[in-house]
Amino acid sequence: MNKQDLAYWQQQAQSLTIEGRAFINGEYVDASNQETFDCISPVDGRKLSNIALCQETEANQAVKCARKVFEQGTWSKAAPVKRKAVMLKFADLIEKHGDELALLETLDMGKPINDALNVDIPGALRSIRWSAEAIDKIYDEVAPTADNELGLVTREAVGVVAAIVPWNFPLVMASWKIGPALVAGNSVILKPSEKSPLTAIKLAALAKEAGIPDGVFNVLPGFGHQVGKTLALHNDIDTLVFTGSTGVAKQLMIYAGESNMKRVWTEAGGKSPNIVFADAPNLDEAAIAAAGAICFNQGEVCTAGSRLLVEASIKDEFIEKVKTAILSWQPGNPLDPNTNVGAIVDQTQYERILGYINKGQDEQATLCCGGKKSQPVDGGFYIEPTMFSEVDNSMAIASDEIFGPVLSVITFENMEEAINIANDTPYGLAAGIWTRDLSKAHKMAKAVRAGSVWVNQWDGGDMTAPFGGFKQSGNGRDKSLHAFNKYTEVKATWIKL
Ligand code: NAD
Repeated sequence: MNKQDLAYWQQQAQSLTIEGRAFINGEYVDASNQETFDCISPVDGRKLSNIALCQETEANQAVKCARKVFEQGTWSKAAPVKRKAVMLKFADLIEKHGDELALLETLDMGKPINDALNVDIPGALRSIRWSAEAIDKIYDEVAPTADNELGLVTREAVGVVAAIVPWNFPLVMASWKIGPALVAGNSVILKPSEKSPLTAIKLAALAKEAGIPDGVFNVLPGFGHQVGKTLALHNDIDTLVFTGSTGVAKQLMIYAGESNMKRVWTEAGGKSPNIVFADAPNLDEAAIAAAGAICFNQGEVCTAGSRLLVEASIKDEFIEKVKTAILSWQPGNPLDPNTNVGAIVDQTQYERILGYINKGQDEQATLCCGGKKSQPVDGGFYIEPTMFSEVDNSMAIASDEIFGPVLSVITFENMEEAINIANDTPYGLAAGIWTRDLSKAHKMAKAVRAGSVWVNQWDGGDMTAPFGGFKQSGNGRDKSLHAFNKYTEVKATWIKL
Protein backbone atom coordinates (compact mmCIF):
# COMPACT_ATOMS: atom_id res chain seq x y z
CA MET A 1 0.00 0.00 0.00
CA ASN A 2 1.36 3.42 -0.85
CA LYS A 3 0.21 7.00 -1.11
CA GLN A 4 -1.21 6.36 -4.57
CA ASP A 5 -3.80 3.98 -3.09
CA LEU A 6 -7.24 4.76 -1.75
CA ALA A 7 -6.71 2.04 0.87
CA TYR A 8 -3.65 3.85 2.22
CA TRP A 9 -5.58 7.03 2.91
CA GLN A 10 -8.57 5.12 4.29
CA GLN A 11 -6.26 3.42 6.74
CA GLN A 12 -4.60 6.72 7.66
CA ALA A 13 -8.04 8.21 8.24
CA GLN A 14 -8.97 5.38 10.61
CA SER A 15 -5.85 5.84 12.73
CA LEU A 16 -5.94 9.64 12.81
CA THR A 17 -6.07 11.40 16.19
CA ILE A 18 -8.12 14.56 15.88
CA GLU A 19 -7.69 17.52 18.23
CA GLY A 20 -10.90 19.50 18.65
CA ARG A 21 -10.03 21.89 21.49
CA ALA A 22 -9.40 25.58 21.28
CA PHE A 23 -5.85 26.92 21.69
CA ILE A 24 -5.46 29.85 24.07
CA ASN A 25 -2.28 31.18 25.64
CA GLY A 26 -0.19 28.26 24.47
CA GLU A 27 -2.52 25.47 25.65
CA TYR A 28 -5.29 23.36 24.20
CA VAL A 29 -8.40 23.99 26.28
CA ASP A 30 -12.06 22.99 26.29
CA ALA A 31 -14.68 25.68 26.07
CA SER A 32 -15.26 27.00 29.58
CA ASN A 33 -18.80 25.57 29.71
CA GLN A 34 -17.55 22.33 28.09
CA GLU A 35 -19.87 22.87 25.14
CA THR A 36 -18.93 21.35 21.78
CA PHE A 37 -20.28 21.07 18.27
CA ASP A 38 -20.04 18.16 15.84
CA CYS A 39 -17.47 18.07 13.08
CA ILE A 40 -19.09 16.07 10.27
CA SER A 41 -17.16 14.83 7.24
CA PRO A 42 -18.85 15.58 3.90
CA VAL A 43 -16.94 12.61 2.46
CA ASP A 44 -19.36 10.13 4.05
CA GLY A 45 -21.45 12.07 6.58
CA ARG A 46 -19.47 10.52 9.46
CA LYS A 47 -18.87 12.46 12.67
CA LEU A 48 -15.14 13.10 12.94
CA SER A 49 -14.87 14.80 16.30
CA ASN A 50 -16.32 17.10 18.93
CA ILE A 51 -15.08 20.66 18.55
CA ALA A 52 -14.86 23.20 21.38
CA LEU A 53 -17.68 25.70 20.99
CA CYS A 54 -15.89 28.96 21.69
CA GLN A 55 -18.03 31.92 22.61
CA GLU A 56 -17.62 35.22 24.41
CA THR A 57 -15.63 33.87 27.39
CA GLU A 58 -13.01 32.25 25.18
CA ALA A 59 -12.81 35.28 22.90
CA ASN A 60 -12.19 37.53 25.88
CA GLN A 61 -9.54 35.18 27.29
CA ALA A 62 -7.74 34.97 23.96
CA VAL A 63 -7.81 38.73 23.39
CA LYS A 64 -6.55 39.37 26.93
CA CYS A 65 -3.53 37.11 26.64
CA ALA A 66 -2.84 38.21 23.07
CA ARG A 67 -2.78 41.84 24.24
CA LYS A 68 -0.64 41.05 27.28
CA VAL A 69 2.08 39.29 25.32
CA PHE A 70 1.99 42.01 22.67
CA GLU A 71 2.62 44.67 25.32
CA GLN A 72 5.37 42.58 26.94
CA GLY A 73 7.15 42.57 23.60
CA THR A 74 8.48 38.99 23.73
CA TRP A 75 7.43 38.57 20.12
CA SER A 76 6.37 42.02 18.99
CA LYS A 77 9.71 43.60 19.83
CA ALA A 78 11.93 40.67 18.85
CA ALA A 79 14.29 41.43 15.98
CA PRO A 80 12.69 40.67 12.60
CA VAL A 81 15.43 38.17 11.87
CA LYS A 82 14.48 36.23 15.03
CA ARG A 83 10.79 36.15 14.15
CA LYS A 84 11.76 35.07 10.67
CA ALA A 85 13.72 32.10 12.01
CA VAL A 86 10.79 30.95 14.14
CA MET A 87 8.34 31.30 11.26
CA LEU A 88 10.63 29.30 8.98
CA LYS A 89 10.70 26.57 11.61
CA PHE A 90 6.90 26.75 11.78
CA ALA A 91 6.80 26.20 8.00
CA ASP A 92 9.21 23.25 8.29
CA LEU A 93 6.89 21.66 10.85
CA ILE A 94 3.87 22.21 8.60
CA GLU A 95 5.79 20.48 5.85
CA LYS A 96 6.76 17.62 8.17
CA HIS A 97 3.08 17.14 9.11
CA GLY A 98 1.92 17.79 5.53
CA ASP A 99 0.28 14.41 4.97
CA GLU A 100 -1.65 14.64 8.22
CA LEU A 101 -2.78 18.21 7.49
CA ALA A 102 -3.81 17.25 3.96
CA LEU A 103 -5.83 14.33 5.27
CA LEU A 104 -7.54 16.52 7.88
CA GLU A 105 -8.43 19.01 5.13
CA THR A 106 -9.90 16.31 2.91
CA LEU A 107 -11.92 14.69 5.67
CA ASP A 108 -13.11 18.03 7.02
CA MET A 109 -14.24 19.81 3.85
CA GLY A 110 -14.26 17.15 1.14
CA LYS A 111 -11.55 18.26 -1.26
CA PRO A 112 -9.62 15.55 -3.17
CA ILE A 113 -6.58 14.34 -1.24
CA ASN A 114 -4.44 14.92 -4.32
CA ASP A 115 -5.34 18.63 -4.26
CA ALA A 116 -4.85 18.89 -0.51
CA LEU A 117 -1.35 17.40 -0.87
CA ASN A 118 -0.29 19.26 -4.00
CA VAL A 119 -2.11 22.58 -3.79
CA ASP A 120 -3.09 23.37 -0.22
CA ILE A 121 0.01 22.24 1.67
CA PRO A 122 2.51 23.82 -0.76
CA GLY A 123 0.34 26.97 -0.88
CA ALA A 124 0.39 27.32 2.89
CA LEU A 125 4.12 26.69 3.07
CA ARG A 126 4.90 29.18 0.34
CA SER A 127 2.89 31.87 2.10
CA ILE A 128 4.53 31.42 5.46
CA ARG A 129 8.03 31.05 4.08
CA TRP A 130 7.74 33.98 1.68
CA SER A 131 6.38 36.31 4.38
CA ALA A 132 9.06 35.16 6.82
CA GLU A 133 11.81 35.74 4.28
CA ALA A 134 10.46 39.21 3.48
CA ILE A 135 10.41 40.63 6.99
CA ASP A 136 14.12 41.40 7.37
CA LYS A 137 14.26 42.97 3.92
CA ILE A 138 11.61 45.64 4.36
CA TYR A 139 13.16 49.02 5.13
CA ASP A 140 11.51 52.08 6.61
CA GLU A 141 11.80 55.52 5.01
CA VAL A 142 13.43 58.86 5.62
CA ALA A 143 11.25 61.73 4.38
CA PRO A 144 12.69 64.39 2.03
CA THR A 145 12.64 67.17 4.65
CA ALA A 146 14.30 70.56 5.05
CA ASP A 147 17.87 70.47 6.35
CA ASN A 148 16.94 71.29 9.95
CA GLU A 149 14.55 68.36 10.36
CA LEU A 150 14.54 64.60 10.16
CA GLY A 151 11.31 62.90 9.15
CA LEU A 152 11.15 59.16 9.81
CA VAL A 153 8.40 57.06 8.29
CA THR A 154 8.31 53.78 10.17
CA ARG A 155 6.02 50.81 10.30
CA GLU A 156 5.01 49.09 13.48
CA ALA A 157 2.89 46.04 14.25
CA VAL A 158 -0.78 46.95 14.70
CA GLY A 159 -1.24 44.87 17.87
CA VAL A 160 -3.93 42.21 18.21
CA VAL A 161 -5.19 40.81 14.91
CA ALA A 162 -8.29 38.65 14.54
CA ALA A 163 -8.32 36.51 11.39
CA ILE A 164 -11.68 35.05 10.37
CA VAL A 165 -11.42 32.57 7.50
CA PRO A 166 -13.66 30.40 5.30
CA TRP A 167 -13.87 26.67 4.63
CA ASN A 168 -12.90 26.31 0.98
CA PHE A 169 -9.11 26.48 1.46
CA PRO A 170 -8.92 26.47 5.27
CA LEU A 171 -5.17 26.11 5.62
CA VAL A 172 -4.19 28.34 2.70
CA MET A 173 -6.54 31.17 3.65
CA ALA A 174 -5.29 30.99 7.24
CA SER A 175 -1.67 31.03 6.05
CA TRP A 176 -2.20 34.06 3.81
CA LYS A 177 -3.22 35.91 6.98
CA ILE A 178 -1.10 34.46 9.77
CA GLY A 179 2.14 34.40 7.73
CA PRO A 180 2.53 38.17 7.39
CA ALA A 181 0.53 39.01 10.54
CA LEU A 182 2.72 36.95 12.86
CA VAL A 183 6.08 37.72 11.31
CA ALA A 184 5.27 41.44 11.46
CA GLY A 185 5.10 41.06 15.26
CA ASN A 186 1.38 40.98 15.94
CA SER A 187 -0.53 38.69 18.25
CA VAL A 188 -3.11 36.71 16.29
CA ILE A 189 -6.44 35.07 17.02
CA LEU A 190 -7.47 32.72 14.23
CA LYS A 191 -11.18 31.87 13.89
CA PRO A 192 -11.59 29.04 11.39
CA SER A 193 -14.92 28.27 9.75
CA GLU A 194 -17.21 26.07 11.82
CA LYS A 195 -17.32 23.84 8.72
CA SER A 196 -13.55 23.19 8.62
CA PRO A 197 -11.77 23.87 11.93
CA LEU A 198 -9.37 20.91 12.02
CA THR A 199 -6.22 22.14 10.28
CA ALA A 200 -6.31 25.50 12.10
CA ILE A 201 -6.45 23.66 15.42
CA LYS A 202 -3.52 21.45 14.41
CA LEU A 203 -1.51 24.49 13.31
CA ALA A 204 -1.54 25.79 16.87
CA ALA A 205 0.53 22.88 18.21
CA LEU A 206 3.05 23.34 15.40
CA ALA A 207 3.30 27.07 16.09
CA LYS A 208 4.10 26.34 19.73
CA GLU A 209 6.65 23.69 18.82
CA ALA A 210 8.30 26.16 16.44
CA GLY A 211 8.79 28.62 19.30
CA ILE A 212 6.01 31.15 18.83
CA PRO A 213 5.51 32.40 22.39
CA ASP A 214 2.36 31.54 24.34
CA GLY A 215 -0.47 33.95 23.69
CA VAL A 216 0.90 35.14 20.36
CA PHE A 217 -1.08 32.63 18.31
CA ASN A 218 -4.54 31.51 19.43
CA VAL A 219 -7.18 29.44 17.65
CA LEU A 220 -10.87 29.75 18.49
CA PRO A 221 -13.18 27.31 16.73
CA GLY A 222 -16.87 28.18 16.81
CA PHE A 223 -19.65 29.85 14.91
CA GLY A 224 -19.57 33.15 13.08
CA HIS A 225 -22.58 34.61 14.85
CA GLN A 226 -21.07 33.72 18.25
CA VAL A 227 -17.29 33.86 18.63
CA GLY A 228 -16.83 35.53 15.24
CA LYS A 229 -19.21 38.34 16.11
CA THR A 230 -17.65 38.76 19.55
CA LEU A 231 -14.22 39.21 17.99
CA ALA A 232 -15.54 41.64 15.39
CA LEU A 233 -17.18 43.77 18.08
CA HIS A 234 -14.29 43.52 20.55
CA ASN A 235 -12.81 46.83 21.62
CA ASP A 236 -9.33 45.44 22.15
CA ILE A 237 -8.78 44.02 18.69
CA ASP A 238 -6.87 46.40 16.45
CA THR A 239 -7.32 44.76 13.08
CA LEU A 240 -9.78 42.27 11.68
CA VAL A 241 -8.78 40.40 8.53
CA PHE A 242 -11.43 38.37 6.85
CA THR A 243 -11.93 36.01 3.95
CA GLY A 244 -15.47 34.89 3.27
CA SER A 245 -18.74 36.01 1.76
CA THR A 246 -19.58 39.57 0.80
CA GLY A 247 -22.61 39.57 3.12
CA VAL A 248 -20.53 38.77 6.19
CA ALA A 249 -17.78 41.18 5.08
CA LYS A 250 -20.30 44.04 5.09
CA GLN A 251 -21.55 43.00 8.53
CA LEU A 252 -18.00 43.06 9.89
CA MET A 253 -17.56 46.63 8.70
CA ILE A 254 -20.69 47.57 10.61
CA TYR A 255 -19.38 45.82 13.73
CA ALA A 256 -16.13 47.77 13.48
CA GLY A 257 -18.08 51.00 13.23
CA GLU A 258 -20.20 50.02 16.22
CA SER A 259 -17.13 49.23 18.33
CA ASN A 260 -13.58 50.59 18.20
CA MET A 261 -13.25 51.33 14.47
CA LYS A 262 -10.77 48.48 14.21
CA ARG A 263 -9.25 48.20 10.76
CA VAL A 264 -11.26 45.75 8.67
CA TRP A 265 -9.73 44.13 5.60
CA THR A 266 -11.97 41.86 3.60
CA GLU A 267 -11.44 39.31 0.86
CA ALA A 268 -14.94 38.46 -0.26
CA GLY A 269 -16.99 36.75 -2.96
CA GLY A 270 -16.79 36.66 -6.74
CA LYS A 271 -18.62 35.85 -9.94
CA SER A 272 -15.70 36.01 -12.28
CA PRO A 273 -15.99 36.33 -16.07
CA ASN A 274 -13.82 34.14 -18.26
CA ILE A 275 -13.94 35.84 -21.67
CA VAL A 276 -13.09 33.81 -24.76
CA PHE A 277 -12.69 35.59 -28.10
CA ALA A 278 -12.82 33.80 -31.43
CA ASP A 279 -9.14 34.64 -31.92
CA ALA A 280 -7.99 32.84 -28.76
CA PRO A 281 -4.57 31.31 -29.45
CA ASN A 282 -5.79 27.77 -28.75
CA LEU A 283 -9.46 26.99 -28.22
CA ASP A 284 -8.75 23.48 -26.92
CA GLU A 285 -6.51 24.89 -24.21
CA ALA A 286 -9.06 27.59 -23.40
CA ALA A 287 -11.81 24.96 -23.07
CA ILE A 288 -9.72 22.80 -20.74
CA ALA A 289 -8.97 25.86 -18.60
CA ALA A 290 -12.64 26.92 -18.59
CA ALA A 291 -13.64 23.49 -17.30
CA GLY A 292 -10.94 23.53 -14.62
CA ALA A 293 -11.98 27.04 -13.59
CA ILE A 294 -15.38 25.74 -12.47
CA CYS A 295 -14.59 22.14 -11.47
CA PHE A 296 -11.43 22.53 -9.37
CA ASN A 297 -12.21 22.33 -5.63
CA GLN A 298 -15.84 21.48 -6.57
CA GLY A 299 -16.27 25.03 -7.82
CA GLU A 300 -15.94 26.19 -4.21
CA VAL A 301 -13.38 28.81 -5.20
CA CYS A 302 -13.72 32.57 -4.79
CA THR A 303 -12.13 33.01 -8.23
CA ALA A 304 -14.13 30.28 -9.94
CA GLY A 305 -14.63 31.18 -13.59
CA SER A 306 -18.37 30.81 -13.13
CA ARG A 307 -19.41 33.07 -16.02
CA LEU A 308 -17.99 31.89 -19.34
CA LEU A 309 -18.37 34.69 -21.89
CA VAL A 310 -17.98 33.29 -25.41
CA GLU A 311 -17.86 35.24 -28.68
CA ALA A 312 -21.01 34.32 -30.61
CA SER A 313 -19.20 33.15 -33.76
CA ILE A 314 -17.52 30.22 -31.91
CA LYS A 315 -20.31 29.47 -29.45
CA ASP A 316 -21.39 25.98 -30.58
CA GLU A 317 -17.89 24.73 -31.29
CA PHE A 318 -16.52 26.06 -28.00
CA ILE A 319 -19.38 24.79 -25.85
CA GLU A 320 -18.80 21.27 -27.24
CA LYS A 321 -15.12 21.51 -26.31
CA VAL A 322 -15.88 22.71 -22.76
CA LYS A 323 -18.48 19.97 -22.33
CA THR A 324 -15.92 17.31 -23.29
CA ALA A 325 -13.44 18.83 -20.86
CA ILE A 326 -16.00 18.98 -18.03
CA LEU A 327 -16.84 15.31 -18.49
CA SER A 328 -13.29 14.47 -17.41
CA TRP A 329 -14.12 16.00 -14.02
CA GLN A 330 -16.36 13.56 -12.12
CA PRO A 331 -17.05 13.18 -8.41
CA GLY A 332 -15.18 10.39 -6.69
CA ASN A 333 -14.05 9.36 -3.23
CA PRO A 334 -11.95 12.33 -2.02
CA LEU A 335 -9.53 9.88 -0.35
CA ASP A 336 -8.74 8.31 -3.71
CA PRO A 337 -5.63 10.01 -5.17
CA ASN A 338 -7.18 9.68 -8.66
CA THR A 339 -10.25 11.73 -7.76
CA ASN A 340 -10.46 15.24 -9.20
CA VAL A 341 -13.89 16.30 -7.85
CA GLY A 342 -14.54 15.74 -4.17
CA ALA A 343 -17.49 16.28 -1.84
CA ILE A 344 -19.43 19.50 -1.34
CA VAL A 345 -18.58 20.90 2.09
CA ASP A 346 -21.90 20.13 3.83
CA GLN A 347 -25.58 19.45 3.34
CA THR A 348 -26.54 23.14 3.41
CA GLN A 349 -24.15 24.02 0.60
CA TYR A 350 -25.15 20.85 -1.30
CA GLU A 351 -28.82 21.83 -1.21
CA ARG A 352 -28.02 25.42 -2.12
CA ILE A 353 -26.13 24.32 -5.24
CA LEU A 354 -28.88 21.89 -6.26
CA GLY A 355 -31.36 24.74 -5.72
CA TYR A 356 -29.45 26.90 -8.22
CA ILE A 357 -29.35 24.05 -10.73
CA ASN A 358 -33.17 23.87 -10.50
CA LYS A 359 -33.38 27.64 -10.76
CA GLY A 360 -31.29 27.61 -13.96
CA GLN A 361 -33.74 25.18 -15.52
CA ASP A 362 -36.71 27.26 -14.30
CA GLU A 363 -35.08 30.33 -15.87
CA GLN A 364 -35.01 28.47 -19.22
CA ALA A 365 -31.24 28.19 -19.50
CA THR A 366 -30.13 25.08 -21.45
CA LEU A 367 -28.59 22.33 -19.35
CA CYS A 368 -25.61 21.09 -21.38
CA CYS A 369 -24.18 18.58 -18.92
CA GLY A 370 -24.30 17.44 -15.30
CA GLY A 371 -27.04 18.78 -13.09
CA LYS A 372 -27.45 15.68 -10.96
CA LYS A 373 -26.49 14.39 -7.54
CA SER A 374 -23.81 11.75 -7.49
CA GLN A 375 -23.00 9.14 -4.82
CA PRO A 376 -19.45 7.81 -5.05
CA VAL A 377 -19.40 7.38 -1.26
CA ASP A 378 -22.50 6.57 0.81
CA GLY A 379 -23.59 9.35 3.11
CA GLY A 380 -21.49 12.06 1.37
CA PHE A 381 -22.51 15.13 -0.63
CA TYR A 382 -21.59 15.03 -4.31
CA ILE A 383 -22.80 16.91 -7.39
CA GLU A 384 -21.88 16.43 -11.04
CA PRO A 385 -20.13 19.44 -12.62
CA THR A 386 -22.85 21.29 -14.48
CA MET A 387 -22.92 23.63 -17.48
CA PHE A 388 -25.76 25.86 -18.66
CA SER A 389 -25.79 27.68 -21.98
CA GLU A 390 -28.26 30.28 -23.30
CA VAL A 391 -27.73 32.17 -20.06
CA ASP A 392 -28.59 35.83 -19.71
CA ASN A 393 -26.44 37.83 -17.28
CA SER A 394 -29.55 38.83 -15.35
CA MET A 395 -30.47 35.24 -14.43
CA ALA A 396 -29.78 34.13 -10.85
CA ILE A 397 -27.27 31.50 -12.04
CA ALA A 398 -25.26 34.34 -13.64
CA SER A 399 -25.61 36.98 -10.96
CA ASP A 400 -25.33 35.03 -7.68
CA GLU A 401 -22.18 33.44 -6.35
CA ILE A 402 -23.27 29.78 -6.26
CA PHE A 403 -19.96 28.49 -4.88
CA GLY A 404 -20.29 25.11 -6.55
CA PRO A 405 -19.53 23.41 -9.88
CA VAL A 406 -22.12 25.28 -11.95
CA LEU A 407 -20.99 27.11 -15.10
CA SER A 408 -23.09 29.70 -16.96
CA VAL A 409 -22.25 30.33 -20.61
CA ILE A 410 -23.17 33.76 -21.96
CA THR A 411 -22.49 34.88 -25.53
CA PHE A 412 -21.35 38.29 -26.76
CA GLU A 413 -20.97 39.91 -30.18
CA ASN A 414 -18.06 42.31 -29.69
CA MET A 415 -15.53 43.70 -27.23
CA GLU A 416 -17.80 46.42 -25.93
CA GLU A 417 -20.55 43.98 -25.11
CA ALA A 418 -18.05 41.62 -23.45
CA ILE A 419 -16.83 44.46 -21.20
CA ASN A 420 -20.39 45.45 -20.27
CA ILE A 421 -21.39 41.92 -19.33
CA ALA A 422 -18.11 41.26 -17.50
CA ASN A 423 -18.53 44.36 -15.34
CA ASP A 424 -22.28 43.97 -14.82
CA THR A 425 -21.83 42.41 -11.36
CA PRO A 426 -21.29 43.73 -7.84
CA TYR A 427 -18.14 41.62 -7.68
CA GLY A 428 -14.65 42.32 -9.03
CA LEU A 429 -12.31 39.55 -8.01
CA ALA A 430 -10.86 38.04 -11.18
CA ALA A 431 -11.26 37.80 -14.93
CA GLY A 432 -9.83 35.76 -17.79
CA ILE A 433 -9.25 37.04 -21.35
CA TRP A 434 -8.42 34.73 -24.24
CA THR A 435 -7.20 36.40 -27.44
CA ARG A 436 -4.07 36.42 -29.62
CA ASP A 437 -4.52 40.15 -30.24
CA LEU A 438 -2.12 41.91 -27.86
CA SER A 439 -3.84 45.26 -28.16
CA LYS A 440 -7.26 43.73 -27.46
CA ALA A 441 -5.82 41.86 -24.45
CA HIS A 442 -4.45 45.09 -22.96
CA LYS A 443 -7.63 47.06 -23.63
CA MET A 444 -9.73 44.34 -22.04
CA ALA A 445 -7.40 43.97 -19.05
CA LYS A 446 -7.73 47.70 -18.37
CA ALA A 447 -11.50 47.75 -18.88
CA VAL A 448 -12.39 44.83 -16.65
CA ARG A 449 -12.91 45.84 -13.02
CA ALA A 450 -11.14 43.01 -11.19
CA GLY A 451 -8.22 42.55 -8.81
CA SER A 452 -6.63 39.79 -10.90
CA VAL A 453 -6.73 39.54 -14.69
CA TRP A 454 -5.43 36.48 -16.48
CA VAL A 455 -4.58 36.59 -20.18
CA ASN A 456 -4.57 33.28 -22.05
CA GLN A 457 -4.58 31.36 -18.79
CA TRP A 458 -6.77 30.94 -15.72
CA ASP A 459 -5.70 31.34 -12.12
CA GLY A 460 -2.14 32.54 -12.51
CA GLY A 461 -0.45 33.90 -9.41
CA ASP A 462 2.12 33.50 -6.70
CA MET A 463 3.16 35.09 -3.43
CA THR A 464 5.03 37.70 -5.46
CA ALA A 465 1.84 39.51 -6.55
CA PRO A 466 -1.09 40.83 -4.52
CA PHE A 467 -4.45 39.09 -4.51
CA GLY A 468 -7.78 40.71 -3.71
CA GLY A 469 -10.88 42.27 -5.11
CA PHE A 470 -12.36 45.42 -6.59
CA LYS A 471 -15.92 46.51 -5.72
CA GLN A 472 -17.78 44.13 -3.38
CA SER A 473 -15.11 41.45 -3.66
CA GLY A 474 -13.25 43.14 -0.84
CA ASN A 475 -10.91 45.94 0.12
CA GLY A 476 -7.65 44.30 1.10
CA ARG A 477 -4.82 42.46 -0.55
CA ASP A 478 -3.36 39.17 0.56
CA LYS A 479 0.08 37.99 -0.61
CA SER A 480 3.13 40.01 -1.68
CA LEU A 481 4.56 42.97 0.26
CA HIS A 482 1.16 44.70 -0.10
CA ALA A 483 -0.22 42.29 2.53
CA PHE A 484 2.02 43.91 5.15
CA ASN A 485 -0.04 47.10 4.84
CA LYS A 486 -2.79 45.29 6.75
CA TYR A 487 -0.55 44.22 9.60
CA THR A 488 1.43 47.41 10.18
CA GLU A 489 0.61 50.99 11.07
CA VAL A 490 2.65 53.75 9.46
CA LYS A 491 4.11 56.34 11.83
CA ALA A 492 5.68 59.70 10.94
CA THR A 493 8.25 60.94 13.48
CA TRP A 494 9.54 64.55 13.11
CA ILE A 495 12.83 65.44 14.77
CA LYS A 496 13.98 69.06 14.98
CA LEU A 497 17.70 69.14 14.36
P1 NAD B 1 -18.84 33.04 5.28
O1 NAD B 1 -18.83 34.50 5.05
O2 NAD B 1 -20.14 32.38 5.53
O3 NAD B 1 -17.92 32.68 6.53
C1 NAD B 1 -16.57 33.06 6.59
C2 NAD B 1 -16.15 33.14 8.04
O4 NAD B 1 -16.89 34.17 8.66
C3 NAD B 1 -16.42 31.86 8.83
O5 NAD B 1 -15.36 31.64 9.72
C4 NAD B 1 -17.68 32.22 9.60
O6 NAD B 1 -17.83 31.51 10.80
C5 NAD B 1 -17.47 33.70 9.87
N1 NAD B 1 -18.69 34.46 10.13
C6 NAD B 1 -19.93 34.24 9.64
N2 NAD B 1 -20.80 35.14 10.14
C7 NAD B 1 -20.09 35.96 10.97
C8 NAD B 1 -20.42 37.08 11.79
N3 NAD B 1 -21.65 37.54 11.87
N4 NAD B 1 -19.44 37.66 12.50
C9 NAD B 1 -18.17 37.20 12.43
N5 NAD B 1 -17.80 36.13 11.69
C10 NAD B 1 -18.75 35.52 10.97
O7 NAD B 1 -18.09 32.40 4.03
P2 NAD B 1 -17.83 30.88 3.76
O8 NAD B 1 -19.11 30.24 3.35
O9 NAD B 1 -17.04 30.27 4.86
O10 NAD B 1 -16.84 30.95 2.51
C11 NAD B 1 -17.27 31.14 1.22
C12 NAD B 1 -17.09 32.58 0.80
O11 NAD B 1 -15.73 32.98 0.95
C13 NAD B 1 -17.41 32.82 -0.67
O12 NAD B 1 -18.16 34.00 -0.79
C14 NAD B 1 -16.04 33.00 -1.30
O13 NAD B 1 -16.04 33.75 -2.49
C15 NAD B 1 -15.29 33.67 -0.21
N6 NAD B 1 -13.85 33.54 -0.40
C16 NAD B 1 -13.15 34.65 -0.79
C17 NAD B 1 -11.78 34.55 -1.02
C18 NAD B 1 -10.97 35.76 -1.43
O14 NAD B 1 -9.76 35.72 -1.28
N7 NAD B 1 -11.58 36.82 -1.91
C19 NAD B 1 -11.13 33.33 -0.81
C20 NAD B 1 -11.87 32.23 -0.41
C21 NAD B 1 -13.23 32.36 -0.19
